[in-house]
Amino acid sequence: MPELAHFVCGRSMPSAGAHAPIFNPATVNVVGSAPIALEREVDAAVAAAKVALPSWSGLGLQQRVNLLFDLRQSVQDARDELVRTIIAETGKTLSDATAEVTRAVEAIGQAVTTTSHYATPFTRGVSSGVNTYEVRYPVGVVAAISPFNFPLLIPLVQSAMAIACGNTIVAKPSERNPTTLLRVAELFSRAGLPDGVFNVILGDRSAVERLLAHPDVAAVTFVGSTAVARQIRMRGVLNNKRVQAFGGGKNHMVVMPDADIDFAADAAVSAAYGAAGQRCMAVSVVVAVGSIADSLVEAIRTRAAALRTGNVNEPSAQLGPVITEQSLRRIIGYIDNAAAEGARVLLDGRMHAAGDAGWYLGPTLIDHVKPGMALHRDEIFGPVLSIVRVPSYEQAVAVISAHELGNGAAIFTRDGSVANRFTDDASAGQIGINVPIPAPVYFHGFAGWKDSAFTESKLHGRGTIDFLTRTKTVSARWLEPADSSVELHFPTNR
Ligand code: NAD
Repeated sequence: MPELAHFVCGRSMPSAGAHAPIFNPATVNVVGSAPIALEREVDAAVAAAKVALPSWSGLGLQQRVNLLFDLRQSVQDARDELVRTIIAETGKTLSDATAEVTRAVEAIGQAVTTTSHYATPFTRGVSSGVNTYEVRYPVGVVAAISPFNFPLLIPLVQSAMAIACGNTIVAKPSERNPTTLLRVAELFSRAGLPDGVFNVILGDRSAVERLLAHPDVAAVTFVGSTAVARQIRMRGVLNNKRVQAFGGGKNHMVVMPDADIDFAADAAVSAAYGAAGQRCMAVSVVVAVGSIADSLVEAIRTRAAALRTGNVNEPSAQLGPVITEQSLRRIIGYIDNAAAEGARVLLDGRMHAAGDAGWYLGPTLIDHVKPGMALHRDEIFGPVLSIVRVPSYEQAVAVISAHELGNGAAIFTRDGSVANRFTDDASAGQIGINVPIPAPVYFHGFAGWKDSAFTESKLHGRGTIDFLTRTKTVSARWLEPADSSVELHFPTNR
């Protein structure tokens, strides 16, 4: 049974702290144990990142990026092993874990394009003989704190461009499934990344609290639940750190009466039940507008009922388990209360939960959900799809506007003018037009609206460079000494 250790300064660093078990959610077997970092261990990781900073940031941008090509290749070459680890600790299906590795490779590839966006403005002659220009520097040691649901992809989205910009990293993966990222740290090291540039510290909220308080951590990039994101943002900002904190989602998919029912039903089922609904961009509410509702709901129900739950290592598996027993109990609680809230359970995943060793829950479909019900208010983060029926487009938009979360919103329609209106009207950071999970490619920005994100910056896209760097604005005059005189008035341009 592997007992994991931190990865600091290019090598394993065993912990003197307690260890917590890591479970395989599909079997409920313990597959390893991970340390809960002590404060001094977090400090050692930050110190390693700080020591590595001058030489790493002192390398040329092109040299750093050249190395990123090798890091990308190292992840690509380890694809099969990484897929197996993701399945074993996350319970993803084979196809979903494979897709995560593919997207992670793309995320490192995107960081390579930092070279195209790194340049800063230079203005010649802002005043006589004076040029003004901005000089970019890495922000420093970046703490990257990530959730369980993308154990490879999210830490790499957080870290790859940060590394390209010349920063050094202390990554704190989820305590539920940290092995994948540890392996990546080893791969990076073998591929030539200098010691201390990418460190992984294992632990829980106590490690995060130490990172937030540590004077040598300059920036914090966090992805996780809304409640924690809010706290991270507030505490980090109080300590004068740069903080971007991305939280949960409750994503609505509006289906207009003119939509193609089969196309919309396929999309809803894929986006609601993929990864057992454990995606921040999962569709968790279908808003059926007007006359389409009955046939749409039936098309979704038929498809959801046919999903194959279990055997995550088999290519045929479609629905895996949820991450922990607590998650399973919490999700079942929502289904238990659905009828009392006035909703109707059309497909009941609890039947499956009773019959399997893993933390499985079958696909669940609940109709006649209304805003105000807990089912609609909360991010359930499981294979539960709610149907809200409304008579008009305006009411569909009102349902989305009233919700506190705004990661993504999608509309299914054949009418371009309605789609354009929806882009303007829907209060969410990512909009899908006949696309159910509008998680953008990495060269476009990603950030939710409302309580889905506590930040002014993006998680990816070229604007992220501004979060990961700081600039100085230089005004420079080169004159012959004969031109100088004493002038006490405020500088004017001439
Ligand atoms: P989580 O908030 O429980 O944990 C995320 C990270 O924060 C983990 O590393 C954890 O150790 C740490 N943490 C947990 N509680 C903490 C506390 N009180 N103080 C400080 N640190 C703490 O999230 P999770 O259950 O691992 O992941 C699921 C959540 O992440 C969902 O809400 C999902 O929507 C969200 N998510 C958001 C995005 C996005 O881009 N917006 C992407 C993926 C997941």
